[in-house]
Amino acid sequence: MTSELGILAHEIEAPAGEIRHTILPGRDLFSRRAERFRHLAPGHPLEEYLDFLAIVADAQQAALNRFPALPRPDPGEQAKCRTHGLPLLDVHSWPRHPAWRDGLTSILQQLTNAALPDATQETITGLQQKSDAELEQMAGRILTGDLAEVSPRELPFVAAALQVYWLQMATALGEDAFGRLEQGGLCPVCGSYPGSGMVGSATANPGLRYLCCSLCASQWHMVRIKCSCCESTRGINHYTLEGSNAAVKAESCDDCNSYLKLLYLEQDREMDAMADDLATLSLDMLMDKEGKSRGGPNLFFHPGMA
Ligand SMILES: [Zn+2]
Ligand SMILES: [Zn+2]
Repeated sequence: MTSELGILAHEIEAPAGEIRHTILPGRDLFSRRAERFRHLAPGHPLEEYLDFLAIVADAQQAALNRFPALPRPDPGEQAKCRTHGLPLLDVHSWPRHPAWRDGLTSILQQLTNAALPDATQETITGLQQKSDAELEQMAGRILTGDLAEVSPRELPFVAAALQVYWLQMATALGEDAFGRLEQGGLCPVCGSYPGSGMVGSATANPGLRYLCCSLCASQWHMVRIKCSCCESTRGINHYTLEGSNAAVKAESCDDCNSYLKLLYLEQDREMDAMADDLATLSLDMLMDKEGKSRGGPNLFFHPGMA
């Protein structure tokens, strides 16, 4: 456990207006993520799964590259969200366009050509035969955090397609379309929980902490030493795995017993919010022993995998 109060003092001094609040993901996010999965996989206990997710991320990138332009929220809706501090592309209320299922079709089609185990190909075939209503139901469960109700084999594919759609919408609208939320722990773009946080993002002031959306990969600023779940600033502790370079720490909260992983980019600039979160599953196990639970999901991590 370490204290970071010195860095907090620096942040308090920074005028709020100078801090970039929301950072949208780049349009090359998925190809960079695929590279990261490939870097992390060799010799890792989850090697096979990380290699599989690299292939999924490549398929996500290809689906994103060919995504059609879609209708945007009307200006009245944008103004309303801004005024009330609500996410414009709210997972609970934004009427997602059926084009997200075309993205899924594209991802599945690409993967049928990949060298994947028979069981995985069977899952792909099963998904290709599902009705629109069944896919929408799965999407609804994933978006509302009900991951345990989705088959662990099907989850990564459907979650991957939803990520592509939301990233497409977010980047088409641009950073200025999104305001700050009332609830600082939720994504200002889509209202999802963060999957992890990053310190020292290349596109922001060094030393600031950004939370990374588990769905649309947007990042938003939140001061450090503050629980992203309940916004408490007391009883915050940091855990690292023994023998690691401390590039990834878990920040836990005694008030609500949650934790969120923080990736310290000064230790490794190539880290990816989703890939490095998955690759540090042993830190989740440590936190579980401490009686803490995740403050946000990783959509490629089924609750049944723990
Ligand atoms: Zn989001
Ligand atoms: Zn808390």
